[in-house]
Amino acid sequence: MNISIENRFIWLNGELVHLPDAKINVLSPTSQFGANVFEGIRCYWNAEKQQLYAFRLDDHYRRLQESMKLFRLKSRYTIDDFRQALLDVVRANDYREDIAVRQTVFLDGFGTWSSKEPVGMFVAPVPKRRIQYGADTGLTCGISSWQRISDRNLSPRAKVGANYINSRMAQLEAIEHGYQSAIFLNEQGKIAEGPGSCLFMIRDGRLITPPLTASILDSITRKTLIELAKAEMQLEVMERDIDRTELYLADEVFLCGSAVEVSPVRSVDGYVIGNGLAGDITNKLHDIYLQVVAGELSAYMDWLYPIYQNS
Ligand code: PMP
Repeated sequence: MNISIENRFIWLNGELVHLPDAKINVLSPTSQFGANVFEGIRCYWNAEKQQLYAFRLDDHYRRLQESMKLFRLKSRYTIDDFRQALLDVVRANDYREDIAVRQTVFLDGFGTWSSKEPVGMFVAPVPKRRIQYGADTGLTCGISSWQRISDRNLSPRAKVGANYINSRMAQLEAIEHGYQSAIFLNEQGKIAEGPGSCLFMIRDGRLITPPLTASILDSITRKTLIELAKAEMQLEVMERDIDRTELYLADEVFLCGSAVEVSPVRSVDGYVIGNGLAGDITNKLHDIYLQVVAGELSAYMDWLYPIYQNS
């Protein structure tokens, strides 16, 4: 489906508007300081069922509400309002393909970095294909010289726009150094996460990931993969601190998130991970994940919200 950018709808403050007509104040706190909280939500098209499934919508909205609370933002929107806005705008565009939806609650109007209102919201869906990795592809990553933000300064637990300046610094440094992506250490010098993703490693058949107190986002994909690894692959899963050098010696490493799905890492700081190919466990988990999000595994339909109710 090819809807030109100009003809795409976004939802802005209660109205469906074409993308070029969506205007916000250049002097608003969101524009000046990244004063917004947001979610990146994926919806996957199932051609056989002619259905578009939104993945773990209410979990995204609960996290959005938590980000709003931490950021001292109040709005009249309930979880039902959040969901309805997404349904309205996706249906208005009649998307019948995989999409990514940016749903953002932001500080609007003339304001400063300490303003608390007016609070606006937009929901902007765009087409986004699932990522396909071949066996010999995967990311080259470098440990960033930038430390992940921490709960003592700008909490990574809140998904605030301004947090992504920290991500930007790491990602651009990694590219400058010839890597494809970055991995952050936290205040304690332990592995935290990627610039927009969480991290898992596999050693001796065990799946290991940093705990929620390691300066990471409470990732919905991370939660999903932990559950799938236990239930579908009978893997032992450990949430514990990871040392930098443990990553170098890992059998497999991958990043995960709504946007990157399951992305194998083939080297860290030039140390080849395993045999340098996407690992077997990573590939299997990736497969299961894509089946779940597209509504191909009946046991996990509770995580999916069918956008087109009548089809
Ligand atoms: N960490 C960061 C910093 C992120 O931006 C993201 C993407 N939202 C994630 C982790 C993964 O979170 P999720 O699985 O909920 O998309």
